[in-house]
Amino acid sequence: MVNLLDFDRDALIAHCERLGEKPFRAVQLFRWIHQRGVCEFAQMTDLARSLRERLPQQARVAAPPVANEQASDDGTIKWLFDVGAGNAIESVFIPEADRGTLCVSSQAGCAVGCRFCATGHQGFARNLTTAEIVGQLWFAEHHLRARLGLGADEHGHRADGTRAVDNVVMMGMGEPLQNYAALVPALRVMLDDHGYGLSRRRVTVSTSGVVPMIDRLRVDCPVALAVSLHAADDALRDRLVPLNRKYPLAELLDACARYLEAAPRDFITFEYCMLDGVNDSPQQAQALVRLVRERVACKVNLIPFNPFVGSGLRRSPSERVAAFADVLRAAGIVTTVRRTRGDDIAAACGQLAGEVQDRTRVAQRRAHVTMPLLPARR
Ligand code: SAH
Ligand code: SF4
Repeated sequence: MVNLLDFDRDALIAHCERLGEKPFRAVQLFRWIHQRGVCEFAQMTDLARSLRERLPQQARVAAPPVANEQASDDGTIKWLFDVGAGNAIESVFIPEADRGTLCVSSQAGCAVGCRFCATGHQGFARNLTTAEIVGQLWFAEHHLRARLGLGADEHGHRADGTRAVDNVVMMGMGEPLQNYAALVPALRVMLDDHGYGLSRRRVTVSTSGVVPMIDRLRVDCPVALAVSLHAADDALRDRLVPLNRKYPLAELLDACARYLEAAPRDFITFEYCMLDGVNDSPQQAQALVRLVRERVACKVNLIPFNPFVGSGLRRSPSERVAAFADVLRAAGIVTTVRRTRGDDIAAACGQLAGEVQDRTRVAQRRAHVTMPLLPARR
């Protein structure tokens, strides 16, 4: 039994051809699934009857089941999806005045193991399939439309021509570029005019810096890119983002510069999680300016650290975040400070933990290592 959420349009066309069906039938099917959110083949009324009758025997349309939903006071909604074998992943919907953003997971857990990230602390279970990645959007979009009472027009869009989700960020659990094979078809479905029709500028892949895969993404499916920097020198970044030992800053910045040649936006977003006393001094802001200036057109997004149990780290005070931002802005770098959303339901950046059956024993290893990152409280 195949899951049709695993297929981008070309793969669905190929699949239907194997069943002896013409490409336009596959496109009709694709639209029923993604634009209308229909998973029962019997309801796909304009599909040829032959196809409607054969599909149920060999195919299904199945997003991972929702195990839990939590709503924040600020309107943020977090879903926990059961992906089997004791693993669960999370997605977060963040409504804003002018758009709706869905934060999507790419893996159950994460093997990168960043020091300040709840997902990283849990270890790694497995890569998500394309169906599990797309399924998060499929579920959220159609669930929200039904819930908000948004009628769909004949194209499956909301009656006012907009969608419930019009911005996707691959910033949930996992390192998307370490699940490249499943990620790219998922991105294609998001971008497809017969799928979700999202603009390349409104689909963002966030990475801790998997250099070779940044280069491949540039060729295969350029979308907006965010790179999680968190430090401007290799010694500190080695400790915060262990992947830095493999792909140090100089290589990472070169890959960012190359990416810009194909990117749908003319800048890269650098994310920088503000950790009290670790990476938040004005000198470190200067170092960041020196690192990026004249090398990569960028914006910097400062993310106040969101604490989680056992992190042993603290959020930078807001004055220090403001002072850091001032240094960057004085150097002409567009800088934003991310507003924390959904932290009352542990849905803020870095708090997504789901449930992960760790296969890397990172959690155990971590228990024996004390990282001397945090200075005494001032
Ligand atoms: N693995 C990818 C995407 C998921 S994390 C990446 O690392 O980029 C999304 C963003 O949240 C990253 O910038 C990450 O560094 C940041 N983040 C992780 N833990 C955080 C925390 N506890 N507080 C604030 N931001 C955090
Ligand atoms: Fe993985 Fe990103 Fe968390 Fe680092 S910050 S552990 S790369 S999810």
